[in-house]
Amino acid sequence: MAIHTQICIIGAGPAGATTALFLAKAGIPHIIVDAAQFPRDKVCGDGLDLKVMRVLQHLDPNILTHDIQQNNGFSPSWGTRIITPNGKYVDLDYQPSTKEAQLPLYQVSRRAHFDHFLVQRFDPKYTDFRQNTTVQSLVREGNIWRINAENEGQDLEITCNLVIGADGDHSVVLRAIGDRKIERRHYAASQRQYWSGVTGMHPDGLIEFYFPKSLPWSYFWIFPLPNGEANVGFIMLSEPVAKLQINIRKELQRIITEDPVIAPRFKNATPLDKPAGWGLPLSSRRRKPFGDGFMLVGDAASLICPITGEGIGTSMLSGYLAAQFAIKAAEKEQYDASMFVGYEKELYRRLKDEILMGHLVYYLQKLPWKWSAWALNVVLPSRWLGYAFRRMAKGWLNTAVHKQIQIKHGVVPTTPPAKYS
Ligand SMILES: Cc1cc2nc3c(=O)[nH]c(=O)nc-3n(C[C@H](O)[C@H](O)[C@H](O)COP(=O)(O)OP(=O)(O)OC[C@H]3O[C@@H](n4cnc5c(N)ncnc54)[C@H](O)[C@@H]3O)c2cc1C
Repeated sequence: MAIHTQICIIGAGPAGATTALFLAKAGIPHIIVDAAQFPRDKVCGDGLDLKVMRVLQHLDPNILTHDIQQNNGFSPSWGTRIITPNGKYVDLDYQPSTKEAQLPLYQVSRRAHFDHFLVQRFDPKYTDFRQNTTVQSLVREGNIWRINAENEGQDLEITCNLVIGADGDHSVVLRAIGDRKIERRHYAASQRQYWSGVTGMHPDGLIEFYFPKSLPWSYFWIFPLPNGEANVGFIMLSEPVAKLQINIRKELQRIITEDPVIAPRFKNATPLDKPAGWGLPLSSRRRKPFGDGFMLVGDAASLICPITGEGIGTSMLSGYLAAQFAIKAAEKEQYDASMFVGYEKELYRRLKDEILMGHLVYYLQKLPWKWSAWALNVVLPSRWLGYAFRRMAKGWLNTAVHKQIQIKHGVVPTTPPAKYS
């Protein structure tokens, strides 16, 4: 079977789904393919930050005020709990004043649920969504991409003018453009497992990060989910993993069963699945996210925050931005690289602070871990940090709800946010 479309998005995770949603909002027809049948799992911490909410606010303000609040697949979290290497609990929470939007800083939702929540909003008038469709290869012939895919044992050929590579860390689009190379310096390794019955959770659903004393530059997390479940995992930068020959899966199990700070909380808890691993391509590795006839979004563009490991919000932001440039390209029927130069600028002007912090952490990593662990023990519980966190949280909340995503380079955004009420 062969089909032609102007725009084909490969991958319907948060990055690809967001691109499709904003293309449809502007009335631009397109195809989006995904290897999976939704709902599908994706190894993740399931934490949704305010960047996610900001993009959703641009899509439809009812999502924040109604759809998420009424949906029992989301668990609100009013802040962060940090557990220092010496086992001290530090709560950084934010309760908005009555004048502010009553929006939690995070929501936690299983990716099987959240990603399905997004694709269910596709408008079939403009979005041709092909599930169970695995792209095997794509080649550029003149100004056209020829995409070879398999749909339930049948060959499918898609030709298009613009490909949006939204196919995550194992991107086939990156392979096609010759840029699929893992650099340990800009990569992290992780394992995640779902549990029920973990004790000691904060009543405000704080998401928890623990920095184990014995393991450098890593953290263990517990993110509370609905129904007394939790997303639990361990993440570490890939360079120390290789250097110290750390087995991430074993360390996750060791923390859960033996760590004096954490293990007591799992005494009567039950694992709901086997631990699963996945890599995190960090934004400190700057990748050129566009070229003739293509843009990369989300993990395919290596956009995960090198400090926190968060990538859903940035994926969705990249999807929003890529859609704005794709809309202009479709209107002009011009898809060469010059149309997408502004996309890269827009992306990286937003990431520059976290990339800088990522480089800082990289150099700190060269120092003995015990010095950094000591610094974390001193700095994290300080009053100053609590004060700074609440100031920042106030700003994040305001931005998420009221500030339009400004585009300075090349296009005028189609969708200003409405007011949150
Ligand atoms: C352990 C772990 C914990 C994390 N925790 C968090 C967190 O708490 N909060 C946060 O914000 N971020 C977190 N992240 C990062 C986050 O998971 C990613 O940044 C995010 O999933 C990227 O979205 P995406 O749409 O780019 O890619 P994905 O979500 O990976 O989606 C890619 C899609 O492409 C499809 N696909 C792949 N190959 C093909 C193909 N050949 N043909 C067709 N379809 C294809 C896949 O089926 C998939 O649906 C975490 C990551 C890991 C690994």
